[in-house]
Amino acid sequence: MASEQDSYTAARTAMVRDQIEARGVSSTGVLEAMRTVPRHRFVPDGERHRAYRDTPLPIGQGQTISQPYIVALMTELAAPKPSDRALEVGTGSGYQAAVLAQLVEHVYTIELEPALAQTAQRALQESGYDNITVRTGDGYAGWPEHAPFDIIIVTAAPDHVPQALIDQLKPGGSMIVPVGPTYASQQLQLIQKDAEGQMHVREVAPVRFVPLRRDAK
Ligand code: SAH
Repeated sequence: MASEQDSYTAARTAMVRDQIEARGVSSTGVLEAMRTVPRHRFVPDGERHRAYRDTPLPIGQGQTISQPYIVALMTELAAPKPSDRALEVGTGSGYQAAVLAQLVEHVYTIELEPALAQTAQRALQESGYDNITVRTGDGYAGWPEHAPFDIIIVTAAPDHVPQALIDQLKPGGSMIVPVGPTYASQQLQLIQKDAEGQMHVREVAPVRFVPLRRDAK
């Protein structure tokens, strides 16, 4: 009989093949990271059997872990390199941070909800990540103490791109951010800052993220 671990591994392999490669994500590093990170450890116990399905899932506090394909797409758009320092705004479950941490030197990640930050921290520790720093706070302001960043991934939607995040992006760096006032009208943007500090924006796809909130509880 297959062990629980084997069945998660099989589900993960199928997820990468059917949901991610099939939709055109081709970066070897990203595919390998998606095959490696144990997504089932980043969802609540009651959702584990659904961890590898083609859907976002509830993680408590009214928040969600993104659909696997969206995590892969955002990671590929960021074009991560081993020497990169990355900022994530919206830690949520910690899953996106873990995927990114497979591919860069260090991930700094900020979560507004203390309970989620704590659960994510625990899941990341249990999975053995030592290159991720989690902090509770409002990511709208970025994390100036560790700036500038090669990569900024925002996983909650602001209605405009926060200036602090633009300021904290390195020349040559990339920001991936869903932008839009309502669920129905968000666009995933790839924002690149060139060597002269000029910004170049590309709209990649319509998406639905939870809103980036400003009010700390
Ligand atoms: N990246 C996550 C998905 C996060 S969902 C994952 O892999 O699971 C978006 C998260 O952003 C939620 O947990 C929400 O609480 C958080 N969030 C919303 N507004 C925020 C803000 N201003 N600063 C930091 N986190 C915020």
